Amino acid sequence: MNDGGPFHLGEDPATPHAPRGVGHLRGADAFPTAARAALGDSQLRRNIGKATGTIRAKRAEVVGEVADWEALREAGRALKAATMARLPGLLLQLEQQVTAHGGVVHWARDATEANAIVVDLVRATGSDEVVKVKSMATQEIGLNEALADAGIAAIETDLAELIVQLGDDAPSHILVPAIHRNRAEIREIFLRRMPDVDPDLTDEPRLLAMAARAHLRRKFLTARVGVSGANFAVAETGTLSVVESEGNGRMCLTLPGTLITVMGIEKLVPTWQDLEVFLQLLPRSSTGERMNPYTSMWTGVHPGDGPTDVHLVLLDNGRTATLADEVGRQALHCIRCSACLNVCPVYERTGGHAYGSVYPGPIGAILSPQLTGVEDNASLPFASSLCGACYDVCPVKINIPEVLVHLRARHVEERRANRTLPNAEEVAMAAAGWVMADPGRYAAAQRAARAGRILAAGRDRIRALPPPLSAWTAARDAPKPPAETFRDWWTRTRGDRGDRR
Ligand code: SF4
Repeated sequence: MNDGGPFHLGEDPATPHAPRGVGHLRGADAFPTAARAALGDSQLRRNIGKATGTIRAKRAEVVGEVADWEALREAGRALKAATMARLPGLLLQLEQQVTAHGGVVHWARDATEANAIVVDLVRATGSDEVVKVKSMATQEIGLNEALADAGIAAIETDLAELIVQLGDDAPSHILVPAIHRNRAEIREIFLRRMPDVDPDLTDEPRLLAMAARAHLRRKFLTARVGVSGANFAVAETGTLSVVESEGNGRMCLTLPGTLITVMGIEKLVPTWQDLEVFLQLLPRSSTGERMNPYTSMWTGVHPGDGPTDVHLVLLDNGRTATLADEVGRQALHCIRCSACLNVCPVYERTGGHAYGSVYPGPIGAILSPQLTGVEDNASLPFASSLCGACYDVCPVKINIPEVLVHLRARHVEERRANRTLPNAEEVAMAAAGWVMADPGRYAAAQRAARAGRILAAGRDRIRALPPPLSAWTAARDAPKPPAETFRDWWTRTRGDRGDRR
């Protein structure tokens, strides 16, 4: 464990990535394999398509109401960039302020260290149960599993998180972790896993919410330890903040005697006033609301009011390595609104599980590979059509397509540097490059490709090409070659004049 200080941020090129075997940043399968299973699930696609379509429409409406939205986005981008540029000093300022207000700051280099810190803190209270407010950071490090190994039960209190937890499932969306479930499925999970639930429970949303509330209330009243993430931390005052929609988070933050917050080091803002920008950008981009219903802020310990024991665990877990990459570091600007997921055509068809990480969708495709090292998530930067919709909606203007292309190049360079044998797709691309380098070879290839019309078997797409081109059609269809190529058409209609007006 680190004895203090912000890890020489961005200065050490050998800064470690998130360790293997702990946490949830790596999937068992590469994206194309995992996506194939998801694409076969039509119920999943319907659930996700309906939910993202609704959120997209709400977001567009409330964003359209803000005359200076583009100026706000630019302010958000500039604030994040300025914060990253002086992150070490700001983190030390945060530590000093939290400590001055009676809190305790812990520095965790990676998931293993962070889990050990939290387990020790909970053990010290003698409690075998914690209530949790939804936190991506604790999912990233696999905290629930680490607590379970230590005999401590972690109870998720965000409704969607609770559904995921009771269903022995994994989150599939940043904001709506149970987006892949419909009402009937949720009712079935509650009946199966909630003791004392009304056996006549229907799938009416109000009744489902009431059942969850009754279940959670019992936990809130007995838990002695709360665990949270943080949306923002203000360096100048040491204030931590959680924004949420249900109020369950507020119960976690105020009722238990001990509060442990696990926060990625990038969640910092320099001043209280900076929150003004992000608290406008976040709710409109995420839930399509003008303001989120609950914004909780706390600064250290206040005797007689809230927890008496306040801890902040500052988590690196690959963030320093990300910060060291001049192009990729903008992924750390993310405020986890999930707007990029809701507009992504790839996410809408595959859902979140295919990404194999707690961070799905476009932001996951650039953040996860940087936290783990590109080779541990090499398929994710390719899980995009590069349509740019994610860049258009991102409230802090993260240029996701630029980072995707950058990470693809890094992957190719790392394979070359490691002299890794080319895979089938690379062989196919090298062959295509050789063919296209010579007009004669290209014309011959076009004539040969016309034979491919047979493979389409009456359809307008080819489902499977022979090796090595099968590497291309393994994950996508190929268009049926035209009966006449552009060159043939040109020659037929213009002769060999080469009319270049
Ligand atoms: S990358 Fe941008 S749009 Fe996507 S979750 Fe982060 S802040 Fe939101």
